Amino acid sequence: MKNVSNEVVACTRCGLCETRRNAVPGEGSKDAKVMFVGEAPGEQEDSQGRPFVGAAGKLLTELLASIGLRREEVYITNVVKCRPPKNRPPRRDEVSACKPYLERQFLLIAPRVICPMGNSAIHSLMESEKSVTDLHGIPFEVGTVTYFPMYHPAAALYTFQLRRVLEEDFKKLRALLDSLAS
Ligand code: URA
Ligand code: SF4
Repeated sequence: MKNVSNEVVACTRCGLCETRRNAVPGEGSKDAKVMFVGEAPGEQEDSQGRPFVGAAGKLLTELLASIGLRREEVYITNVVKCRPPKNRPPRRDEVSACKPYLERQFLLIAPRVICPMGNSAIHSLMESEKSVTDLHGIPFEVGTVTYFPMYHPAAALYTFQLRRVLEEDFKKLRALLDSLAS
């Protein structure tokens, strides 16, 4: 995992390296049972080199706590590791350039559950064109890993009702993790 992070920090595989302040490899436990994957670092993340440390990150941390999880015991990362200018969505070529890092993180951590948060992560990780509105909160098994798509926490900052939906989906995630532990 250290190697992946070191390579990400020095990476120039796509144009996002030109405008980033800090690359954001991801953080958490290498033994994590669950990984959370967002879209891309934002302003705060770019400035600190850490994932989900802004307003959306604060909500993610609270949602984790609501089901008894600490950030340190899960793994949190993004589809692309460098901030796109003005927070535009990452382009397809940037997503594919960055994909090998995420794939290596999946192999190294070997989580039981992967939570893609928001459409960007859902579309780049799952073979589905469907939207988060249809897919959220429904486990989807692929081999030994279960995908559990969710709304992006930032969406709940703009649309208050989604906060309740996220809270409910986190409860379902708790039940899913408990069922896998036995
Ligand atoms: N939004 C994301 O998708 N990722 C972060 O790390 C922060 C905000
Ligand atoms: Fe490299 Fe990914 Fe950053 Fe592009 S976004 S420069 S591929 S680490």
